[in-house]
Amino acid sequence: MTAAVAAPIWRVRIHELGVIPQLPKTLYFPDAADGELMDIPCYCYVLTDGVSVVLVDSGANPVLARQGGCTVVGGSDEELAAALSADGFTPDDVRYVVHTHLHYDHLANDGLLRKAHVVVQQEELDWALSGRSGPFYVAVPDWMGVLGRRLLRVTGETELLPGLRLVPNGGHTPGHQSVIVNVAADHRACICGDIVSMLANVSAPGAVTSDLIATQAFLARASSAGWIMLPSHDPDFRAHDWFVPRGR
Ligand SMILES: [Zn+2]
Repeated sequence: MTAAVAAPIWRVRIHELGVIPQLPKTLYFPDAADGELMDIPCYCYVLTDGVSVVLVDSGANPVLARQGGCTVVGGSDEELAAALSADGFTPDDVRYVVHTHLHYDHLANDGLLRKAHVVVQQEELDWALSGRSGPFYVAVPDWMGVLGRRLLRVTGETELLPGLRLVPNGGHTPGHQSVIVNVAADHRACICGDIVSMLANVSAPGAVTSDLIATQAFLARASSAGWIMLPSHDPDFRAHDWFVPRGR
């Protein structure tokens, strides 16, 4: 009889790469007062199981934002390189970049990651190229051209690596996905993307929700599974150190 092999435990670190200044707070907090503004940090999550390095999103930068008529402060390839270096990695160590979706504030620093395969749901790519996807998809054909054969399209729920699963969930964009990762033998974290931009959106989805039914279905699944929710833009998640599951 062979013993079951335990799935690897992944460590997760959050890095801030770019800030979108002065957005209406009501985008994220339905109860906020009209006219209230807030700065929104953009996060890149760096995951490792001690063998592979995986990024979830690569943050924002001012150059790509400007092409789309948007403003971003900070965020750059250099900042991403410094963030990886602080974790003990080089850009060439990154095996995969998983994109929750293809808005400009989630993929702007992919050019640095020359050896990584870049993983996106086919449905998100189709939507991005549909001509109907709106202004937050900036220069996607150029981005695809840079990646070439390193672009990996997946369809549906996918175990990318042991202990690391991609779960499409719509909600924010049609092909949006989250990443579920083992962070302890009995704990899973959900790197949400913009289906949960702020932690408060777990109980009160914000205005950036395009499909409320899909969002609520995913949040119900997350709740019953007990996933630890890691949002994409919550200022309270700045400067977290290596992520430690609750109760440890
Ligand atoms: Zn976003």
